[in-house]
Amino acid sequence: MIFGQPLWKFLVDVYIVWILVYFLLKFLSQNKKIFGVTITVVFLFFIFYIVDYFNISASSQILKYIVQWTPIAIIIIMAPDIRRSLEIVWKNDASREDFVMGSERTKIEIVDAVIELASTKTGALITIEKHNTLDPYAERAIPVNGEVTKELLMNIFVPNTPLHDGAVIIRGDRILAAGAYFILSDSDHYDKTMGSRHRAGLGISEITDSLTVLVSEETGNISVAIEGILLRMNDREKLLDYLTMFMK
Ligand code: ATP
Ligand code: MG
Repeated sequence: MIFGQPLWKFLVDVYIVWILVYFLLKFLSQNKKIFGVTITVVFLFFIFYIVDYFNISASSQILKYIVQWTPIAIIIIMAPDIRRSLEIVWKNDASREDFVMGSERTKIEIVDAVIELASTKTGALITIEKHNTLDPYAERAIPVNGEVTKELLMNIFVPNTPLHDGAVIIRGDRILAAGAYFILSDSDHYDKTMGSRHRAGLGISEITDSLTVLVSEETGNISVAIEGILLRMNDREKLLDYLTMFMK
């Protein structure tokens, strides 16, 4: 007798539970998206129904524990996805009414700095705010509050200096902060070898309407991340045109 039931009944219970857990974990690992939560809840109701209908809850302690603990497990497993989904939902609420875009001069300073940084293969991550505030990131970064100039931008990204890691955040004509850290994108549309700088740029473009200019220290390539896509933009004129469109 195990758990107050014959051995054969216990083994059948364990087998049923094993199959249920196997499919649940398989499903969760393949569908780490918010809709997965919905399907899982439906699945849970289904288990409750089976347990109730066949009255197997009395004989399967393990199944009972699983039914009790699965909701908590789902929340833990899906925490990053839940956070990302909530941020997308809140994106529009965090809009700044008083937003200002940078001047023509600021735009040219940014482009000139980026071209120069690319020519020396100096890694850079420059995020330009639009309607959605980047305050939560700027507050946790190093305040700069300086006018956007090519020289200041280039200085910030000099390797092995205190400000060079992380992102520069630009609001209007001012550099708000440097050394900002964003949530990395887990998009699998891009090369698996894409590193954390590019994933950070992509990540912030997925959850805000900002534009990020990236310079790769490995290749010297320039990219722009906007609305969850990454565009290669090595041509100065193309980058200028793109920023003109964005900074209207
Ligand atoms: P590169 O092409 O320049 O090598 P990459 O996309 O391959 O870029 P990594 O080589 O991993 O990325 O770049 C690491 C740098 O990216 C770090 O030194 C840091 O400056 C920056 N970085 C890493 N994580 C973040 C983050 N979460 N937010 C902002 N910047 C980050
Ligand atoms: Mg790299």
